[in-house]
Amino acid sequence: MQERMIGDVRVTRIEEMMGPGFPAAQFFPEFDAETFKAHEHWLAPRYYDPPSGKLVTSIHSWLVQTARHTILIDSCSGNHKPRPGMPRFDMLNSPWLDRLAAAGAQPEAVDFVMCTHLHVDHVGWNTRLDNGRWVPTFPNAQYLMSRTDHQHWQTVARDPEAPAFERNTYNDSVLPVVEKGMAVMVEDGHACDDCLTVRAADGHTPGHVRVDLASRERRAVFSGDALHNPVQVPLWRWNSAFCTDRDQARRTRQGILVHCAETGALLMPAHFCPPHAARIKAKGDAFELDWDWEGK
Ligand SMILES: [Zn+2]
Repeated sequence: MQERMIGDVRVTRIEEMMGPGFPAAQFFPEFDAETFKAHEHWLAPRYYDPPSGKLVTSIHSWLVQTARHTILIDSCSGNHKPRPGMPRFDMLNSPWLDRLAAAGAQPEAVDFVMCTHLHVDHVGWNTRLDNGRWVPTFPNAQYLMSRTDHQHWQTVARDPEAPAFERNTYNDSVLPVVEKGMAVMVEDGHACDDCLTVRAADGHTPGHVRVDLASRERRAVFSGDALHNPVQVPLWRWNSAFCTDRDQARRTRQGILVHCAETGALLMPAHFCPPHAARIKAKGDAFELDWDWEGK
């Protein structure tokens, strides 16, 4: 179990998968071999796999348990979902739900599911297959999603020219909870429980949000996909190939790193490999990682 107390709040990482994913040279549009090479000594082998040239990626959710509520931040890729052209996410059969239960959260106990954005690896467990139909996995939950992001992906899903895996993602993992009236469209400043606040963090997707946690002077930022790999802390100008607005994504990434450095908030992204979270130190407009919970 990988759990940590932040103030009075228990945060547990629920893993779906971890391993080599996209090649670094393809993943970063700004990739420069010499610049990357200078970081390889600390990236390999945990965050980068030199033999394959691939970034090593974790796909996980964050379970947030407060005195009053059980909250899930992002819901990974899900099981049995057809994702044509995306073999990493296609027709998975992982024990993610068992891991969630082992962390103390049966599906019925989840009060809120918060989606940082509506990409394939962040909404999958919103639904599960039941007698051939996609039904909400968490029957008592409100599903909080960015109004802007929802509008964008709803439009994509209606476009027959859009990639099938993107249409499928909306139709099997977002639409069923919207149709059941379980989705709550949120904007910057939306509060959940008395310790979580949704903050606009767009650029990776049109309506991407981050979730800020504050409890008894302790802070964390669930930054979704504002950054994917730890190398994007020193190289914060580097985007992912999946960032839709690269200038805005860069501004958002910088803003999150400034916030973490100034407030001491623990950075808790959706895809960092162990120890999965870090503190940030700023020097001028440069940033350094200060790994937290390593070896604990
Ligand atoms: Zn992601």
